[in-house]
Amino acid sequence: MHKIGIGYDIHRLEAGPKLVLGGIEVPFGAGLRGHSDGDVLIHAVIDALLGALGEGDIGGHFPDTDPRTKGARSAGLLATVVDLVRSRGGEIVNVDTVVVAEEPKLGPHAAAMKAALAPVLGLPPGALGIKAKTNEGLGPVGEKRAIACYAVALVRFPD
Ligand SMILES: [Zn+2]
Repeated sequence: MHKIGIGYDIHRLEAGPKLVLGGIEVPFGAGLRGHSDGDVLIHAVIDALLGALGEGDIGGHFPDTDPRTKGARSAGLLATVVDLVRSRGGEIVNVDTVVVAEEPKLGPHAAAMKAALAPVLGLPPGALGIKAKTNEGLGPVGEKRAIACYAVALVRFPD
């Protein structure tokens, strides 16, 4: 049996924090506000995986009131969720994502993000999609006040 999950996340862009996206640091003059490192791409992937398990969302598993996850690397949270998928007998088949950001240009960083995240997910690079889009200047993302991400994940379970 296969199950699919969908995830979405958005974080405010502000001066100060480093921009961490897809498990890597992207050189830019602003970063994402968040309880953890604000890695909106990983958060969307986590919600997609939890969705495939029927397991609620990232806020339920890693509450933003928990001092242990303050400033945490989201890649570590993702590894915890991948372990949860495996503990339920699940095997991740593929993950696809769309990052929506007006700035910076993320296309040149997609390969490094894949290299960082595919091993955490236990996937070959060809089974992890990272696509970068702008929002055509529209809304908070288009006005460079936020970065958003959509993700889907397909998980195979024993019949
Ligand atoms: Zn988030």
